[in-house]
Amino acid sequence: MNPMAPFHFLLPLIALCFLLLRPLAAIDGADDPLYIDCVEQCEKTGCVGNRCFQHCKFSSDGKPIDGPWYMHEPLYLRWKQWDCRTDCRYHCMLSREEERTKDGARPVKYHGKWPFKRVSGIQEPVAVALSALNLAIQFHGWISFFILVYYKLPLRPDKKTYYEYTGLWHIYGILCMNSWLWSVVFHSRHVELTEKLDCSSAVALLGYTLIQSILRAFNVKDEATRVMISAPLIAFVTTHILYLNFYEFDYGLNMKVCAAMAVCQFLIWAIWAGVSIHPSRWKLFVVVVAECLAMVLQTFDFPPYKGYVDAHALWHATTIPLAFLWWSFIRDDAEFRTSYHLKKVK
Ligand SMILES: [Zn+2]
Repeated sequence: MNPMAPFHFLLPLIALCFLLLRPLAAIDGADDPLYIDCVEQCEKTGCVGNRCFQHCKFSSDGKPIDGPWYMHEPLYLRWKQWDCRTDCRYHCMLSREEERTKDGARPVKYHGKWPFKRVSGIQEPVAVALSALNLAIQFHGWISFFILVYYKLPLRPDKKTYYEYTGLWHIYGILCMNSWLWSVVFHSRHVELTEKLDCSSAVALLGYTLIQSILRAFNVKDEATRVMISAPLIAFVTTHILYLNFYEFDYGLNMKVCAAMAVCQFLIWAIWAGVSIHPSRWKLFVVVVAECLAMVLQTFDFPPYKGYVDAHALWHATTIPLAFLWWSFIRDDAEFRTSYHLKKVK
């Protein structure tokens, strides 16, 4: 008997799944002939309906505009303005969506992205505002931690803090703020560079928080051990970021890597919160559980409500209270460890 025989019945099943899923996956507003027509017309005339754009002067030299944005001159104009193609795509998308809504159809994605309405040239105004709020909360959290460990808690005779994780949380704060800054930029303007910067800083932060969770949960205080644990993880995350930026920007692969790193640290924090006698472990627990739920929320990829609020924006909203609670846990941890060391000294 063929050893593969038991698997043969699986093949038609897999084929059936593909057939059923294919039309679902294939629906993209950019494949709609009416949309394609609209963009083609617009690139020739520079108009959609009675709206016309100045940027369509570009196509007169006969050169298609499909290279990376930074190859086009002048840079300062490119950054602020929209070129002919993006203008046409945007306005054709809006007019198509308007017609579709009148026919009672649900919104579809265009070029893999939901039809967002812009506000003063900002592509996703809600996500931008929420990212900015996240940035502010992170800054506040970091500053309050800084004031606590250097000004409110006693210092060692050598002016260093008793808390062993001060330096690590400083790096964490900086990586967080960096990541939210690029999130603001990316949600204002989707181009290749801003997307890569946003994604790379998020991956760097996620990789770092994994290291941080291991060092804190296992109470690693020895410098050499810290280096031994973090070096392979830093190497892995760096390789992954370089791969994404300079080899292939692979969404699927990145999702898997990020999910794996997130699950690892969720487990580490959750188990630690369960077994430790930390006075603020409930905060840890709340943050870990809520972050898990927020991640699930993000997988519900629904179209933006009224053209503004989608699952990703909501996810950015949930991280605001969680960041607040998280920094509060960090401050509690600093106080807890400091009082432990002071008791030991006495
Ligand atoms: Zn985002």
